Amino acid sequence: MSTQEQSTDLRRVISTTTGLPTTDGAGVNMTRLIGTSELDHLDPFLLFDVFESDNPDDYIAGFPSHPHRGFETVTYMLAGQMRHRDNAGNEGVIRAGGVQWMTAGRGIIHSEMPEQEDGLMWGTQLWVNLPQRDKMTAPAYREFAAAEIPLERRDGNIEIRVIAGKSGAVADRPTEPVYLDVALPANSTFSEDVPNTHNAFVFIVEGALWVDGLELQSRTMAILGDGTQMFAETKDIASRFLLIAGLTLNEPIARGGPFVMNTQAELKQAIDDYQSGRF
Ligand code: MN
Repeated sequence: MSTQEQSTDLRRVISTTTGLPTTDGAGVNMTRLIGTSELDHLDPFLLFDVFESDNPDDYIAGFPSHPHRGFETVTYMLAGQMRHRDNAGNEGVIRAGGVQWMTAGRGIIHSEMPEQEDGLMWGTQLWVNLPQRDKMTAPAYREFAAAEIPLERRDGNIEIRVIAGKSGAVADRPTEPVYLDVALPANSTFSEDVPNTHNAFVFIVEGALWVDGLELQSRTMAILGDGTQMFAETKDIASRFLLIAGLTLNEPIARGGPFVMNTQAELKQAIDDYQSGRF
């Protein structure tokens, strides 16, 4: 292989979105960026929500008891706190900087409720599909407080919270997810290898990030094209952003609300099992 052929293949920006306003749960107002009429899914990601409000009317109703089957949910709190409880007796509070990685597998019924009556509630929830072979796996929870998430420091005061990835808090999921929270000072550059087998996107949490010649503003998501490396830079202001990637499954998706299976028959079975108390 020549030197030129070894040069990295940078991922371009193929589209950007600021999502669509959505109401879910018992009346939580949020922004949905994946799982919309505009972007149904980004294999293996089925949904990406951002809730951000200091008005309790936007979040206080929470997400009372509801089921899931066939995928994983990843809740990352940026501000505020959320209590979850499930039908297996698990319970906990996710606080700012903390992550809950829940494998719904064959089925779980849980609630996700704000553990606050006022103040800023800010966070994200990502749904990560499970491959066909793992959809009926046993449900499992993993929780990490902010201090339990590996922090990678790079030259130039770059800080990377590695929620998922080879050196991440979560490193063994079937979709080989990468989930980084990157704090990039002004006038800095960032590069990260992301395997070509993965779909990838970035979400700008704060500041402005330049990728592929485009200035991505705060609260913008950019879908990255094929390639083996992500490259980004900041100019005169710092940026905090999420880099999220996962192995493309290329399996059929049969989706009905909180259940995501491969066939309509499996979806019908999920509804039957839930309604018959088999979760
Ligand atoms: Mn849920």
